[in-house]
Amino acid sequence: MQRDTLVFDLIKQELERQRHGIELIASENFTSLQVIQAMGSVLTNKYAEGYPGRRYYAGCEIVDQTEQLAIDRLKQIFNIEYANVQPHSGAQANAAVALAVLQPGDPILGLDLSMGGHLTHGSAVNYSGKLYQPNFYGVTREEGRVDYEMLEAKAREVKPKMIICGASAYSRDWDYERIRKVADEVGALVMADIAHPAGLIAKNLLNDPFDHCHFVTSTTHKTLRGPRGGIIMMRKDFENPFGLKDVKGNIRMMSNLLDMAVFPGIQGGPLEHVIAAKAVAFGEILTDAYTDYANQVIKNSQALAKALVAKEYQIISGGTDNHLVLIDLRNKNISGKKAEQALVMADITANKNMVPYDDKSAFVTSGIRLGVPAITTRGMKEEHMQFVVNAIDQVLMNADDTNIIAQVKKDVNDFMTQFALYPELG
Ligand SMILES: *Cc1c(COP(=O)(O)O)cnc(C)c1O
Repeated sequence: MQRDTLVFDLIKQELERQRHGIELIASENFTSLQVIQAMGSVLTNKYAEGYPGRRYYAGCEIVDQTEQLAIDRLKQIFNIEYANVQPHSGAQANAAVALAVLQPGDPILGLDLSMGGHLTHGSAVNYSGKLYQPNFYGVTREEGRVDYEMLEAKAREVKPKMIICGASAYSRDWDYERIRKVADEVGALVMADIAHPAGLIAKNLLNDPFDHCHFVTSTTHKTLRGPRGGIIMMRKDFENPFGLKDVKGNIRMMSNLLDMAVFPGIQGGPLEHVIAAKAVAFGEILTDAYTDYANQVIKNSQALAKALVAKEYQIISGGTDNHLVLIDLRNKNISGKKAEQALVMADITANKNMVPYDDKSAFVTSGIRLGVPAITTRGMKEEHMQFVVNAIDQVLMNADDTNIIAQVKKDVNDFMTQFALYPELG
């Protein structure tokens, strides 16, 4: 068969883009070559509806083993009793938990999207805000930290069936114990969505959500540095508390309801090639090299924040506990949208982001979100953060000057040649 040069030339171009640029999108990372190889394997050919040992298709003996490896390694990473590695993405993981425990119209309580939350936590344009009755808590105006008093007051007022914690653009750790306390008081279940900081939680660099939250969901492609996908976890299985019955009228354990919610609830056949790649990534997370990586992520994030503050950038909450910072650009007289566009011209990728109490729309925004997981994988250390901040600052302070931006781009491209990316790919 003739090689599809049209597609493969574009893939080659994307590899070069990734090599040349500074990747600061907080939700992105670079997987190992092994992860890519597992994903690009013959396992994509296999149908395997069901779970290891109980499939609806023949010939699953091998993929049973790759999926079981992924499950076992994930359990080991977080010291948990239950793991489902089939969700196609983080959004799917959250949808499955909701399907397992909620009825249409049930009240839920999550962090407002404009304050750092995620679409799947109750946004009006998402299934979570259409099927369920969404309610929100926020962050405080003064400190930019989760307003736990507001969360508690809202919980008592609306009596949610589920409280969702976790965020996409929040640089501080979470008080899971406090959330569980009010949840028990009002009869809610707690779901922690650790899509962003999961890799740091895996190495005990942040609070452990598992003892306090009934369910923990995550993506596998952000700090966990695996293939694009989702996972659902519980430290301990338990009998579902709302007396929810399955279609046959039986009361089931949550593990059972969650498995059924993923398949056949919201998904068909699992992506066994991606699940094998998850197994590879989880194996990597269990190594000392990944522990070093997670520690370096925190060090780089702190160094980045410090260098930004020195240039009078306003970081929401004044700093960071994790892998990202959210910057309010209003004192710099540039919108998030314009900042994003100017940075891209210098081969620096970051995304515009609303800041708490933003006066601009989600399309324009007053802020940008910067994360270090990807550049840390490239091999950057604290001493490289000053270059990164200088480059960002030069672009943002000269956003209309194409000559200066062209010079920064050249400097960025030169700088990145010292951090090899997939050298095996030529
Ligand atoms: C990224 C993210 C998700 C969704 O992940 P997808 O894989 O894009 O579906 C869910 N929740 C949070 C908090 C996220 O940051």
